[in-house]
Amino acid sequence: MTKAISTVQDQQEEEKIWANSGDSHLMEPEDLWTARLSKRLADRAPRSERGEKYEIVYIDGMQIDRQLNDFMDAMRPPGFKDLNIRLQDLDREGVRNQLAFPSMGFWVNNIRDPELEVAVARAWNDWAMEDIMGKQDRIFAPAIVPLQKVEDAVAEAERAAEMGFRALYFPCGIDDDRAWGLDIWEPLWTAAEELKLPLCWHIGTGAANVVYRGPGGAVVNYMETTYPGMRVITHLVAGGALDRHPDLKVLVAEGGAGWVPAIGDRMDEGYRQHGMFVRPRLSRLPSEIIRQQVYASFQHDISAVQVIEDTNYNNVLWGDDYPHLEGTYGHTQETLRTVFDGVDTKIRDRVLHGAFEELFPSV
Ligand code: MN
Repeated sequence: MTKAISTVQDQQEEEKIWANSGDSHLMEPEDLWTARLSKRLADRAPRSERGEKYEIVYIDGMQIDRQLNDFMDAMRPPGFKDLNIRLQDLDREGVRNQLAFPSMGFWVNNIRDPELEVAVARAWNDWAMEDIMGKQDRIFAPAIVPLQKVEDAVAEAERAAEMGFRALYFPCGIDDDRAWGLDIWEPLWTAAEELKLPLCWHIGTGAANVVYRGPGGAVVNYMETTYPGMRVITHLVAGGALDRHPDLKVLVAEGGAGWVPAIGDRMDEGYRQHGMFVRPRLSRLPSEIIRQQVYASFQHDISAVQVIEDTNYNNVLWGDDYPHLEGTYGHTQETLRTVFDGVDTKIRDRVLHGAFEELFPSV
């Protein structure tokens, strides 16, 4: 009996599809900021409390109520707060490496006080380096960059590169007077290009969540987290930032990938048909800039893979979104088998390995 079981396991192991994830998350310890900052600053760092109806997030005097979902806790993978167990989760699921975004750290850029934002971002990056990246080499985080002052952003990007970070994180939602296509960010793009750090946006970040309670609300709200990722790319391309910095690479994580070549066509149309109004002029068509510099990650979308076959846009990464509800924990192999059923192995290797390694070359 034992022999028969182990044979089945061996066979499963042999057929396992190994993948890299361009969209995972770290779960910060509750004392991350209190342990690392003076009480004066730590008291104003992001923290969340469980209210009766909502999870309440406090950020420097601001308060954000979020829907409370008890079942989310029940569905957390075993390793969500323990690094060693997490590595076992990865082995079982067939995930080799993870780009792991923050969880609570997503709120850092909501802080308006520049001094506090710098301190909180630095503490998060120190924690990620010491407690996660310093202890293994399969899970790595993008550094959080303080954004209130661009000179602080440049300084932290430089410090992060020096520490060994391989990417920078940015929130999708941003005030209009600080939009991602504006020249105020130019020193940061120059630094990131020189430091060879890809810019990683994660959907659902930066702005207050849209909450629509009418018909289809759950799906409508899910989609409302997706559009801002498209806006980021539109501004970076149309505003000329990516054209001026051809070695910069950009990832939009968790928002699917099928839309990327489609908005390239759409932007070309605007660039051509409204040509007399277009400023700045670009040295390449928007669609070319997108094909050369923009990457996107998906979890379940069949179209994300079809788009590679049909349009040859191939900067597509897969992501497990571990340990989140939208992710693939517990059914990663089933998902990968479904998504890549009948797909050319060259395309499968590009999505699961090639695009990831191009964006995050191992040193
Ligand atoms: Mn995610």
